[in-house]
Amino acid sequence: MSRVFNFSAGPAALPTEVLEQAQAEMLDWNGSGMSVMEMSHRGKDYMSIAAKAEADLRELMNIPDNYKVLFVQGGASSQFAMVPINLLNGKKSADYLLTGQWSKKAVAEAKRYCDVNLVADTTDSKFTTVPDEAGLNFDPDAAYVHYTPNETIVGVEFDYVPDTGDVPLVADMSSTILSRAIDVSKFGVIYAGAQKNIGPAGLTIVIVREDLIGNADPNMPVMFDYKTFSENESMYNTPPTYCWYLAGLVFAWGLKQGGMSAIEAVNKRKAEKLYQAIDDSAFYSNPVELNCRSWMNVPFILENADLDAAFIEQAAAKGLMTLKGHRSVGGMRASIYNAMPEAGVDALIAFMQDFDKANT
Ligand SMILES: *Cc1c(COP(=O)(O)O)cnc(C)c1O
Repeated sequence: MSRVFNFSAGPAALPTEVLEQAQAEMLDWNGSGMSVMEMSHRGKDYMSIAAKAEADLRELMNIPDNYKVLFVQGGASSQFAMVPINLLNGKKSADYLLTGQWSKKAVAEAKRYCDVNLVADTTDSKFTTVPDEAGLNFDPDAAYVHYTPNETIVGVEFDYVPDTGDVPLVADMSSTILSRAIDVSKFGVIYAGAQKNIGPAGLTIVIVREDLIGNADPNMPVMFDYKTFSENESMYNTPPTYCWYLAGLVFAWGLKQGGMSAIEAVNKRKAEKLYQAIDDSAFYSNPVELNCRSWMNVPFILENADLDAAFIEQAAAKGLMTLKGHRSVGGMRASIYNAMPEAGVDALIAFMQDFDKANT
């Protein structure tokens, strides 16, 4: 067996130890004689798996007691609708920060439910910046403020958490959750599709302050109401049981790494050395402003785009996979989520330097 270094933006690499544990438990989980996939979600075994996953996530992120953790389906994209459905609570408008392709989709969806007030719009920079914190003018009557702390496509990450006063702050953390320590109490809602830093696709984590639950528009589907999940331990219907189990293995793995501060230190180092290698060369470049370069998604352009195909092919021959950039940006993108070992970043940098030498 040989595992490559997989730089996919999502679904993304999972820790090898996690996959090995899942493999070892595949046919017989803990003496139960069955796979986790085959268990009733209401049975004692599965309930213990689900509860441990939540407890480990709470410990990892230091989630305060007045927040619920919901395990839902529909991806981050369903949260683009669930957020206004649950948080408008009679109000007419919400504030949005438009900083990339994902927040653009969130804005488009919210417009179906309310007036969207764009507090920031970085379209003119081709989404290579974050707005200046001092220039943000929030509407005190807005139902909530929504932003995307890490924009996965261009690789732009906020270097601050907006201060929205009493207005709940909502964050699409799909591609940054668990990458660094955060203060959950600053947020009203945090949501994330699992397939970047949590587990397989099919699960979405929603961390929501309790007072924001129970105000959903009653005309909306029951499955779009946070209360349906919070009142039923996310088991009103059959949850994505296997994804939840795997996410639990990833949370336990995160604790074993030493928790968020240890994970954060590794991620910072990985990102810094990759950006350093890009900046040190005349052959590669990254368009994002220095203060807001993403730790998780690192796009880079080759000076000569005619060499893109050769780069991809030769990288793949060295086991460095899925480096092709998003179609809207071109060039390359290395996604270096938690499961990407530092050795993978080192191998990528060494290859980039060799490729540069061979072609200049
Ligand atoms: C991947 C991603 C999404 C989309 O997630 P789905 O689970 O596919 O709906 C949304 N926002 C961000 C920031 C992402 O990285």
